[in-house]
Amino acid sequence: MNERIHDAWDREHLWHPYTSTIDPLPTYLVDRAEGVEIILADGTRLIDGMSSWWCVCHGYNNPRLNDAARRQIDSMSHVMFGGLTHRPAIELGKALLAMAPPTMHNVFFADSGSVAIEVAMKMAVQAAVSRSGDHRKTNFVTIRRGYHGDTWNAMSVCDPVTGMHGAFGSALPVRYFVPSPSSRFDGEWNPADIEPLRETIEAHHDELAAVILEPIVQGAGGMWFYHPEYLRQARKLCDRYGLYLIFDEIATGFWRTGRCFAWEHAGVTPDIMAVGKGLTGGYMTLSAVLTTKEVADTISRGEAGVMMHGPTFMANPLACAVALESLRLLAETDMKSRVAHIESVIKEAIAPAAEFENVADVRVLGTIGVIEMKEPVDVGEFQKRCVERGVWIRPFGRNVYIMPPYIITDEQLRYLIGQMIELVRP
Ligand SMILES: *Cc1c(COP(=O)(O)O)cnc(C)c1O
Repeated sequence: MNERIHDAWDREHLWHPYTSTIDPLPTYLVDRAEGVEIILADGTRLIDGMSSWWCVCHGYNNPRLNDAARRQIDSMSHVMFGGLTHRPAIELGKALLAMAPPTMHNVFFADSGSVAIEVAMKMAVQAAVSRSGDHRKTNFVTIRRGYHGDTWNAMSVCDPVTGMHGAFGSALPVRYFVPSPSSRFDGEWNPADIEPLRETIEAHHDELAAVILEPIVQGAGGMWFYHPEYLRQARKLCDRYGLYLIFDEIATGFWRTGRCFAWEHAGVTPDIMAVGKGLTGGYMTLSAVLTTKEVADTISRGEAGVMMHGPTFMANPLACAVALESLRLLAETDMKSRVAHIESVIKEAIAPAAEFENVADVRVLGTIGVIEMKEPVDVGEFQKRCVERGVWIRPFGRNVYIMPPYIITDEQLRYLIGQMIELVRP
């Protein structure tokens, strides 16, 4: 191992996501990051294909975001949100509601994506019980291949096979799962896709609070893009049977899929919506749960009389100030054309991979390009070859995918995809 880019102490003592302490995969020591490049301790420059897991929109070390953070630090990094409020939260709340579905009315700021999902699910339960007066309406139905985060309730609605159900077994609440829609985003709608959801809701609506889904793009559960009609049908079923509809837009939000939020592809709005990841442009952790006035007021009319959640760092001013600046940057850019352009470059450059005999499928939506292999990819080996080629891509399972920062140049993007293709070539 190269000691300059692999730290022995780190390997011995620090946990990295989903790694063994006995036989950890290599980790690379980063010195700094700039624009779309991650610069390793030995000077190796990597073009970032991951946006650090969906969140870096405007590139690393962005002067506007740096200034926003500095200005906020100089006035206050944090104050409690109980009994106090501040401009960064107010302005960010306004900006979020202005870009969210028009039905959204109340904003709950939380710490991370997983916590936002906990909050969204708690909201749904409190509102469902309050609305129906029926204490049984506390469960959830979702689709397989989903990913909603790593905390307890979030895990319980992750895919039961690729998710963490195996490790936690009976400790997890038992949810209803229906198959992930098979109709492709850009293909024909197959009406049979909705039947399992219809049957489950018909049979169990008495005990269901909500349907929870990642709209259009299933991210960490399989990088699958499904047909917008599924969301329209799900909305109708929720309305008919008195269920709330939760959209987890944590990965899809802020233009990742070609629209500001993925619900826009279907034109149906949720009752509760979680955002995170790209919210601060990738600077620090912050999430928000948006909901309708009906849900918020129904909770307040319920037994508890309040939403039962209130994290210490709720609406952290530093994070809110950076998020606000990130949303301003998005608003100043013609994001629709920007993302359409990135999509067209990815589509063209990635197409040759579809011919490879070891490739099962190639798909592109917005700034997301996926090469699905027939066999699982050896991540450690793959990443070693990435670093040799000056790119940063982290596959999982059979999926090799990119979702670069929006500021990537055509030249960088073509280089990134060119290397990706060489890395999967049989
Ligand atoms: C990443 C992710 C989460 C969890 O967010 P964290 O900030 O990692 O807790 C939840 N839902 C989706 C769709 C995600 O992609």
